[in-house]
Parts: sequence; structure tokens; C-alpha cells
Amino acid sequence: MPPDASRPRVSGALVPSASVEALGGWARRYVKPLASLGVETVADLLHHYPRRYIDRSKVTKMGDLRIGQEATVIGTVRRIRTQYTRRRQPIVTVTVFDGTGYLDLSWFNQSWPARRHREGQEVAVSGKVSAFRGRPRVQNPAVEILGGAGADQVHTGRIVPVHPAGEGVSTGVIRRLVHEALRRVPLLADPIPEDVRHRRDLPPLHQAVRDVHFPETDEDQVRALERLKFDELFFLELGVAFRKHRVEAETDGVAHVPATDLVPRFIDALPFEPTRAQRRAMDEVAADMARARPMNRLLQGDVGSGKTVVALSACLIAAGSGHQAAIMAPTEVLAGQHFRTVESLLGPIGGRRLRPTNDGPQASLLEGDGPHYALLTSAVTGKERERVLEGAASGGLDLLVGTHALVQEAVEFADLSLVVVDEQHRFGLHQRIALKEKGASPDVLIMTATPIPRTLALTYYGDLDVSVLDELPAGRRPVRTRVVRTAADRRKAYDLVREQVRQGRQAFVVCAAIDEENRLEVRAAEKEAERLRTEVFPDLRIALLHGRMRPKEKEARMEAVRAGQADVLISTTVIEVGVDVPNATVMLVENAERFGLAQLHQLRGRIGRSEHESTCVLFDESAPENEDARQRLGAMARTTDGFELADEDLRLRGEGTLFDIRQSGLPDLRLARLAEDTDLVRRAREDAFALIASDPELAGHSELRAEMERRFADSIDWLFHS
Ligand code: ADP
Ligand code: MG
Repeated sequence: MPPDASRPRVSGALVPSASVEALGGWARRYVKPLASLGVETVADLLHHYPRRYIDRSKVTKMGDLRIGQEATVIGTVRRIRTQYTRRRQPIVTVTVFDGTGYLDLSWFNQSWPARRHREGQEVAVSGKVSAFRGRPRVQNPAVEILGGAGADQVHTGRIVPVHPAGEGVSTGVIRRLVHEALRRVPLLADPIPEDVRHRRDLPPLHQAVRDVHFPETDEDQVRALERLKFDELFFLELGVAFRKHRVEAETDGVAHVPATDLVPRFIDALPFEPTRAQRRAMDEVAADMARARPMNRLLQGDVGSGKTVVALSACLIAAGSGHQAAIMAPTEVLAGQHFRTVESLLGPIGGRRLRPTNDGPQASLLEGDGPHYALLTSAVTGKERERVLEGAASGGLDLLVGTHALVQEAVEFADLSLVVVDEQHRFGLHQRIALKEKGASPDVLIMTATPIPRTLALTYYGDLDVSVLDELPAGRRPVRTRVVRTAADRRKAYDLVREQVRQGRQAFVVCAAIDEENRLEVRAAEKEAERLRTEVFPDLRIALLHGRMRPKEKEARMEAVRAGQADVLISTTVIEVGVDVPNATVMLVENAERFGLAQLHQLRGRIGRSEHESTCVLFDESAPENEDARQRLGAMARTTDGFELADEDLRLRGEGTLFDIRQSGLPDLRLARLAEDTDLVRRAREDAFALIASDPELAGHSELRAEMERRFADSIDWLFHS
């Protein structure tokens, strides 16, 4: 480490947007390594927060070390030595000293520690103390380089920050750079309004940034961290509130006034009694649709909770009011499934597949004719496609169900007033907006089966009103779940399949081709299917389904399964979304450890849809030390409650997994954790919403607005679009 001879003595003030080079000639050699950590400007450096802290007062003196103790010590490197075994394997020993004693650090068969360390370096060492030839030793310790060789140590007080370091730039160097940056940046402007800061007793930004890097006390550090987390959450919620207000202020939507009794007839004709939750959700949707302000509602309900019925009642409100509705699903299979539901539930009230003529929809609906519907996917081609497009454009079609084929340019609607988007986290914001733009301010209903923990719902879906189906239809039995690891238990699982088939039931076997685009994975799944077909269930009727099949073929095989012409459906995860075969009572999941909790929950939701008892068997092929897999599968066996699983998922893996948050387009969180910082989320939300209520356009808070727009740069559309 070079002494800082080249460092300018003048204390030139810096703006946060300055490049790190501006910190002085000595900083220049770290520009590249810093860039690979995402640090390019002085501001980046100030927001490069410590990963952890070492409290000097809790550090053990080397003279007091005991054998077997887990300890952290701080000392200076005194000697570095590399020896070789007879087989020419290196043993590196680094000796450190802290004034009370010596400690040897040793690494076997690795030579890099010899290159990393220099005499005079100040290091913090953690590990388990053993003894070797009467001297205390730590093997393979965790070492942080706190300071360079002798020169210019940053005095850091009792608590030493450990910044995330990288190739070519140690935590010690970063600490010096941050220290210098803090000295040179005069005062960070505080974007949080003073009254909010005051009410929440938050330290000013400049102080918080200083204290998060160089806290004098634990309390300083805690307060600084809280303040910085609050910042992130406040701006996130400010964007959410800003958008929500804008959406709610709109009045150019369609105030639906059904001129027919389609909805009550639909409900009367259902082959079952709607649950209370379904009725409530239908009422909420109807009330929204009656208003001129466009609906923006999230319909959240676990798999099997009956969201489609709610969606269809909304579609009938649109059709019955003389407009059109569209349902967009993420896959062909699911779109086909919805379409069949449409046929079976609307048939009894006179619904028909697209009629050939194209007189206006109202006339015939009023005459007691049912709604006209059609399916549009990439598999719909030729004459039929033309007819569907023509029906949508002329208004002859009341309801169009489809995949993202719906947002293609060729698709035009005469008068689209309701857009239903199923499983929305699979679509990007852009597709949602594209479908919406097929109409003039249509109502939007988004359906998701992914249980969303409350804190997430308040942020990532915070601009939407929410209806929850928190009740399963009567007569459903919770699915029993077993995790299986031995060959004997595997045989028992196969016996169970046979036993259920003998009783007239059906089974699913899911093979882990998680990426359906990936030929290798699909081939592996096909091979497994072949093995099951020939070796395990040669006596049963087997159907196979995977993502690379042509839509028509998939459809035919699904139909065969539904019609009871196959006993076992072996498939890749294409069945994850939406397949409805109530007679299926067993599901075997191969390599269950490869799936995330949300996905396993979705899969399992495919069974347990009848009065018969159902069982889900998760084959766990993970290594015993794969703690994460164990916890995930354990949670699956413990509960069928989607919300509990969602919380568990959040806890196990952080918020980035349930949905693709990058796809959500919202600013990311560096410090705040939605799963843990629930109180902060609540406070930030309150303050942000109060501010927007008093100043919706942030006209009197121009800096705040600029900061919000800066943070939402990647999703500026989302802020301003409804
Ligand atoms: P989701 O989309 O929420 O997973 P679906 O709408 O696909 O659920 O409904 C799952 C199954 O339950 C379908 O077969 C549907 O016909 C049936 N169903 C829906 N509502 C009820 C109800 N209230 N009682 C009985 N069965 C219902
Ligand atoms: Mg569904």
C-alpha cells in the first residue's frame, strides 16, 4: 500500500456526482476495482454501506485467547511464511501481534494468503482457536484487512466498519476512500421533508451517512441505518402514492351500467354456491366498475380459490353494459383452460362461441341472447384467426380470452372496457400497459395466485385496490404432503399412485424441467417419463406433456386426461399454472428441491380439488447439507396455507424471489428488508401518502419530486401511466 504522498493537501470540496478519481491521485488506481463493485461516483461510495462492523471493545486480546474459543482479534501482521510439504503443497503461515501476544494464521494448500498480506497490515481475524506446537493458531480464518502497512490509518473509533471489498480493493482501502469522501463533500442535501424527519425522529441525511460508515456508538449506527432504510422505503411509497393518486383522479373511464340480468343469471346457473369471499370480491369489482374512475384492482386468491368466477362476473358486467372484455393468461394451456371454463359456465346462460354475423352486441344480449366469446393464441390461425380479429374489431365479440397474442398490433377492439390479467407477475409492466391501451381507459383486474405477504402487497402492488379470496370452496380437503428421500418410500409412493388409480382417481407426475426453453432439461424429463412408463407403471395409461410440444398437441393430451383416458399425466412444469383436473388426487414431484416454494405451492394446488383425499409426494434428491432445500420442503409438508408459505419464502430467500422484482420495474432496496422492516414500511407509507394527499403533484416539493423521478428512472412510465 503506497503512502499518501500524492494525496493533495488542499481540501477541495467535492460534489457527490464527482468521479471517485476526484478524491486524489492515490484513488485513481482503485477506479477499475471500484467500478466492478458498482462504485463510480463519490455518491456511490457514500452509499456503499458496510457489510458488518467489528466492535473493538468486544475483540479478544491475543494474550487471553483460549483453545477452542471462537474469537475475533485485531492485530498487525508481523511475518509471512510459506513452507511446502513433501508433496509440494504450500502451507502459508501469517503471524499477527497485538501487543499482548502472537497468533498464527494458517492455510493449507493455498498460496494466495501470502500474496494478500504484507508486514505492517492491520487485520481483523475471526475463527476458532487451536494450538500448534504450543502457540495459538487459527486455521483458514476469516481475515479483513483493516489498514495499509503502517501509513495513514483512518482512525475509526471503537466500531470498525467492514465494507464490501473486491478484487484489487480491500475493505481497508474502501474505508479510507469513504473517509476522504465524507471529509470532502460539504453537506448532503436532505431530500426528506423536515416535518417528516422531525415526526419520525430521524437524524439528518449527512449525519446518517457519516454514522453508518463511522459510528461512534451502537446507537448511532442503529439510528443511521434506520434513517437510510426509511429513505428507501419513503421514496418507494412516494412513487406508489403518486401513481395511485393519479389513477384515482382519472374520471375518463367507463361507468358500467348493465342493461341485462346476465350477472344474476350467471350466478344462479353456477353448478356450485359461490363462497362468501367470492361474493364479496364480485361486489367490490361491481362497485369499481360502476364508477367512472378506471378500476385498478388486484384479485388475490390461493390456487383453487375460484378467481375465474369473479373474473367472469366482471366480464359479464362489461358485456352487459355494451362493451367488451379481454382475459389475458401467461400460457397457452392456461388460456385454453380459461376458455373451457368460459364455455362451461357461460353455456348455461346462452353463451356462444363467436357468432358469424356482426350485429352490435347489445341488441342480441338484450334479447336474452348470451355473450359471445372466442380464444386467441398463437395456435389460432388462418380463417379462424381472421374471424376472431374481425369480431373483436367490429364488436361482435363480447369476450376474448388469450395469451399475450392479445397485445399484438393486429388485435383491435371496438370498445374494450375491461382487461383481466391472470398471473400478472409473469407479465412485464409493459404488456399490462399494452393491453390496457387496446381500450380507452378500460378497467383493469389483475389476478394472482401467488400469496403476497402484506408488506409486499403494500409496496409492489401498493397502487392497486385489493380483493382477497381467503376462503376455499366447501368440501375441499387439505392436501397431505410427504417429503421422500429413500428408495423404499419412493416405492410406496408408486404404490399409492396405483392404489388411487384402482379407485378411479388420476395422478400427476412432475419432472423438473424448470426451463421449458431448455432442450436438455426437457429431454431429461422425457427420459424420466419413459422410465416411468416402461419400468414403473407399464400397467397404467400414461400421458406425457411438456413445454416444447405444439399447442394443439398439448391441448389434445390435456383433453385426454380430463376425459379420463389417461391414469397418469407425466409432465414438466407446464401444468403449474391453471390445469384443472379435479379427479387427480396424487402428485409426485421429482427433484422437488429444485423448485422454489411459490412454485411448489402452485404445483400442489393442482390436486385437492374434489371431495377425495389427496396426497402430494415431494422427492428430495438434495445433498444432506442443503439446508435451504430442507427448510423449503419442510415448510411444504408443514402447511398448505399460501400466506404462511409466502412469509416463509420471504424469510428464507429475501423478497427477490416470489416475483421478479426487476420486472416490476420499481427501485431496488439496498438496506431495507420488506419482510423484517414492517414497521418502517408502515411509517414510510403513512408519511408518503399524507404528503401526496396534501400536495399531489409535489408542486411545492420540487426537489423531492426530482429525487423520486430519479429513483424511478427505470419505470418512469409506471409513475405517469395509469
Ligand atoms: P383459481 O383460478 O383461483 O385457482 P379456479 O377459478 O380455476 O381457481 O377454480 C378452481 C375450481 O374450483 C374450478 O373447477 C371451479 O369451477 C371450482 N370452483 C370455483 N368456485 C367454486 C365454489 N364456490 N364452489 C365449488 N367449486 C368452485
Ligand atoms: Mg386460475
